[in-house]
Amino acid sequence: MPHRLVIIGEERFADPVAQIVHLVSDEEANNFLNNLEESSYAFVLACLMDRQIKAERAWIIPFKVCESLQIFNIQDLYLIPKSEIHEVFVRKRLHRFNDKMSDIFFNGIKDIIEKYDGDAKKIWSNSPSSALVVYRFLEFKGSGIKISTMAANILARQFRIQFSDYYSVDISPDTHIVRVLKRTGIVSKDANKNMIIFKARELNPEFPGIIDYSCWEIGRKWCHSRNPDCENCLINNSCDKLI
Ligand code: SF4
Repeated sequence: MPHRLVIIGEERFADPVAQIVHLVSDEEANNFLNNLEESSYAFVLACLMDRQIKAERAWIIPFKVCESLQIFNIQDLYLIPKSEIHEVFVRKRLHRFNDKMSDIFFNGIKDIIEKYDGDAKKIWSNSPSSALVVYRFLEFKGSGIKISTMAANILARQFRIQFSDYYSVDISPDTHIVRVLKRTGIVSKDANKNMIIFKARELNPEFPGIIDYSCWEIGRKWCHSRNPDCENCLINNSCDKLI
């Protein structure tokens, strides 16, 4: 019998919600990142920027670069020399590591044009396996396993992009998720993020990230850091309540 968190997660995933994914607070930039049909390159470049700075600051970088250059298409971005991309990064203080990250940004544009004909959604179109999507992200300069699995996770779980399987879609152990998994007793109080990721794989190997939905909802609605509302919680009967 699957764990209750898996069952709830499956119910939420089956619910076909087409909604704007919140990636950054600026509405225009968020719409730009959400437009996977016309500006899928922005999503990929934003993923590549998401390291060693706050996510919000990283995710807005493609929009800021395009805005600064007044170029909102990848074909014209491809014509911009590396030095000019670097100049924008430095002038606008886009990242903590502007030299390195402007180089990664420049190479990301080059790869999208040269490997995917300028259409980044080819990375995930035609229902590839989740492992192939992760692999394709790993091929980008500057993208390690953390960025690559995060990208596949957001595409599958938030944008509901169809993959042929979800084995490589892990949970993202943010604060709500960690709190719920520890209080339920599913993982020990001192479990680290890797332990949490592997426990989720054990609970539902076909789609480890499915419990993200249930844990996130429970963490937000009932399992608050202080004064958790166990009485009304969805998993009241299957939780150890290790508060
Ligand atoms: S039953 Fe209580 S401790 Fe358990 S997840 Fe729900 S709110 Fe948290």
